Amino acid sequence: MEEEKKNLNFLEEIIEEDLRTGKVDGILTRFPPEPNGYLHLGHAKSLCINFGLAQKYGGKTNLRYDDTNPTKEDTEFVDAIKEDIKWLGFKWVKELYASDYFDQLYQWAEEMIIKGLAYVDDQTQEEISEGRGTVETPGKESPYRNRTPEENLRLFREMRDGKYADGEKVLRAKIDMASPNMMFRDPIMYRIKHARHHRTGDKWCIYPMYDYTHGQCDSIEHITHSICTLEFDVHRPLYDWYIQTLGIYPSHQYEFARLNLTYTLMSKRKLLELVQKGIVSGWDDPRMPTLCGVRRRGYTPEAIRMFCDKIGVSKRDQLMDIQLLEWCVRQDLNARSNRYMVVQDPVKLTITNWPEGQVEWFDCPLNPADPEGPSRKVPFTGGLFIERADFMEDAPKKFFRLRPGGEVRLKYTYIIKCDEVVKDESGNVTELRCSYDPSTRPGAGEWRSVKGTIHWVSAVYAKKITLRNYDRLFTLVDMGQVPQDKDYKDFLNPDSLTLGCGLAEPALLDDASGMAVQFERTGYYVKDADSTPGEPVFNKTVSLKDSYKPE
Ligand code: ATP
Ligand code: MG
Repeated sequence: MEEEKKNLNFLEEIIEEDLRTGKVDGILTRFPPEPNGYLHLGHAKSLCINFGLAQKYGGKTNLRYDDTNPTKEDTEFVDAIKEDIKWLGFKWVKELYASDYFDQLYQWAEEMIIKGLAYVDDQTQEEISEGRGTVETPGKESPYRNRTPEENLRLFREMRDGKYADGEKVLRAKIDMASPNMMFRDPIMYRIKHARHHRTGDKWCIYPMYDYTHGQCDSIEHITHSICTLEFDVHRPLYDWYIQTLGIYPSHQYEFARLNLTYTLMSKRKLLELVQKGIVSGWDDPRMPTLCGVRRRGYTPEAIRMFCDKIGVSKRDQLMDIQLLEWCVRQDLNARSNRYMVVQDPVKLTITNWPEGQVEWFDCPLNPADPEGPSRKVPFTGGLFIERADFMEDAPKKFFRLRPGGEVRLKYTYIIKCDEVVKDESGNVTELRCSYDPSTRPGAGEWRSVKGTIHWVSAVYAKKITLRNYDRLFTLVDMGQVPQDKDYKDFLNPDSLTLGCGLAEPALLDDASGMAVQFERTGYYVKDADSTPGEPVFNKTVSLKDSYKPE
């Protein structure tokens, strides 16, 4: 029992304690995205925590859109967010919107006005921020702070009814202009915005602020553990204040460290800029850290969840190594993905003793971990292609692939011997003339081994495919540390996308796994939606190997 305890993260400890003491009798969490962009890997961490904790303790999770800012939000994002959460493998019990509670929030605001706890302020935005003071100096009270509840109520209703222009007035909570917590210096509750809302349409022209909204929404839904990122810890006292002041269900907020990844940007605002400026092809560009981007890149939900599990939940900000995520992707794909042979930089190889026109079909396992499992048929003919790099003329001793006079096994098939090297006028190798040893066919008598095995494709049957080889989008390790005199776009990697092509065994194009596959000895690739029957396109997911090992 004691042993087990030690492995709990701090949120699990809190939850177990709350269940043990009876503070709560079940767990209800929520995931609160603002529908102003697509979800990214940081959100995946939050999703795994919110849904993961609820799952672990027999609880539930709501999906609640934090849609209080109509000018930036859109149903395009609402739909995409749902798709991404489902893809990651999570199910919410209720789909809710902060805007569902606009009437209730408005009601509460009037109550606060009547109790003398809120007032309408006519100061400009600048005057309000100036009046707030600084951490060292107390703020100055607004000249409108002592309006009577009757006057405030009338003005607030006029705000609601559209009598004033944007920015002309705000509703503020009347707390303490000298509070050491700046959040308590009469925070704004409502601002005027004559904007159409994606759900409430033109019903409202005043919209509640985040702080006045979030805790109350949690409370209305009886969220037991409202889990968010560390930057919200300074908001927590205000979160509690509104709940206590209104005397409603006491939801509680807990904060964990955001996910930051090396070479990666995770601010929706900046990702939006990349899309709008055409620096990437869209939110789902495979170089984007968005969930739709990594999905198109061939990352699996299993790999992302494995990654979130490995990084755990901490209370201190950390920069995580993107190689750990890539390692998880490799782990998952290595176990599950289908294998195919693709030659990317071909050199012609002719089997001189192969009967003219003969084709032999080899039955090859789709995944070597399951040799008796599903297979694909691979045609072997007299004319083949191998990788140029798998042949070397003056090869060092340790080179175990093909060399003049040397032997190698063509994967799944025969051992061949290089008898002759044909070159063009400038000395480039144009053809390797080889002979095969029929007795080395796998399963035909005694197994003879040679040091090297290389992949190949039949020249007659090979299909041409386009390759999009992706690399990191940025060159700076910590994109949170862009120097003052620079812009994050100064660190774009000019080689983040290079086009290539390949010659593939024909079965690749019939692959029905719907996920990334392994190009044997090369890397993992996934078929892109841009593919046409005449031009299949494959995105590079991740290289096959890497020296990286997780601790
Ligand atoms: P961004 O700064 O990228 O715009 P956000 O915090 O504004 O992100 P929201 O839609 O408000 O985005 O986030 C929904 C939830 O996901 C919030 O609870 C937020 O704390 C969490 N979240 C956002 N980014 C990260 C991250 N990098 N790591 C962990 N959780 C995150
Ligand atoms: Mg936000």
